[in-house]
Amino acid sequence: MSITLEHVSHTYGAGSPFEKKALNDTSVEIHAGEFVGIIGHTGSGKSTFVQLLNGLVQPTEGTVYVDGTDISQKSDAAMAARHKVGMVFQYPEYQLFEETIAKDIAFGPRNFGLSDADVEERVREAMEFVGLDYKTYADRSPFRLSGGQMRRVAIAGVIAIHPDYLILDEPSAGLDPIGRREIFAEIQRWHKEKGITVILVSHNMEDIAQMADRLLVLSHGDIVLDGKPLDIFSTQQEALHQAGVSVPPVTGVLQYLQQQGLPITDRVHTADEGANVIYQWIRGLDHAH
Ligand code: ADP
Repeated sequence: MSITLEHVSHTYGAGSPFEKKALNDTSVEIHAGEFVGIIGHTGSGKSTFVQLLNGLVQPTEGTVYVDGTDISQKSDAAMAARHKVGMVFQYPEYQLFEETIAKDIAFGPRNFGLSDADVEERVREAMEFVGLDYKTYADRSPFRLSGGQMRRVAIAGVIAIHPDYLILDEPSAGLDPIGRREIFAEIQRWHKEKGITVILVSHNMEDIAQMADRLLVLSHGDIVLDGKPLDIFSTQQEALHQAGVSVPPVTGVLQYLQQQGLPITDRVHTADEGANVIYQWIRGLDHAH
C-alpha cells in the first residue's frame, strides 16, 4: 500500500504568460504507515505536491497512484482511491461551509453513505479527537469560532472520514501551543494505533524532528533530500541552507557547541533532549574534577 508518484510534473497556467512549473518530474513512493514531514522554502512546491496526492491538483505529466490506482481517472475505483486521502488545508476557514459544526464535520461521512447513527458516532469521535466538547459545540456555527477552533473543526471534518492517508498542510497555524500539542498528540496516537499514514507540511522543524520518520525537502519543485530527519539535520546543513530551510533551533544550538569543540551529539528529537545532552556534558565535567 502506498501513494506513488511516477514522473509527475505540474505547471500552473501552461501556455500563458504566467506559466509556472511548480513540480518537476518527481518520482517518489510514500509507504502506508509512514509519518512523512515535508519542508521547503515558500514557493518550493509543497502545497502543489500534497494537492497532487488527492487529485485536487492534476499532474500535467506523469501519474499519481493511491494503493495502485491512478487517481486521475473518472472511474469509481479512482474516486474511492481519492477518498482514502484526507487533506487539512492551510486555511481551514475555506474548508468550512455548513451552518453548524456537527453538520460540517458530518459532511464527509454522510457523503460516503453511512447511516445517521454511524455519522453521529464519527462526529463525536472526531470532535473528541480535536478537543471540542460535543454538547458545547455541536450546534454552533463554525463561522463564529476563533481561528484555532476553526482549525480544530476542519481537522475533525477530515478525521471523520477515517482517511488511510492524512495530509496536513501547516496545520498548527492559528493554534495556541497547548492546542497544538494536544492535536499533534492525537495525530501521533492515530498514526501509531491505527497505522494511518501522515504527511505533514510544516515550517516548524522541531515538530518534524519530533514526529516524522521520513523527511522530504523541496526546493524549486524538486525533492532535493529524502531521508531520516535526524540524518538530514545532522549531515546536510549545506543542502538545507541552499534549499532555504534551517535545522531545528535546538539542533542549531548543539551544532554551534560542537563547533566550539564540545564532544556532544546533535541528534535529538526535542528541545528537552537537547537540554539533557548539554546537562549530561556539564555533569561529565563535574565528575572529571
Ligand atoms: P509552497 O507550498 O512551497 O509555498 P506552492 O506549491 O504553493 O509552494 O507554489 C509553488 C510555485 O507555484 C510557486 O512559484 C507559486 O507561486 C506557484 N503557484 C502556486 N499556486 C499557483 C496558482 N494557483 N497559479 C499560479 N501559480 C501558482
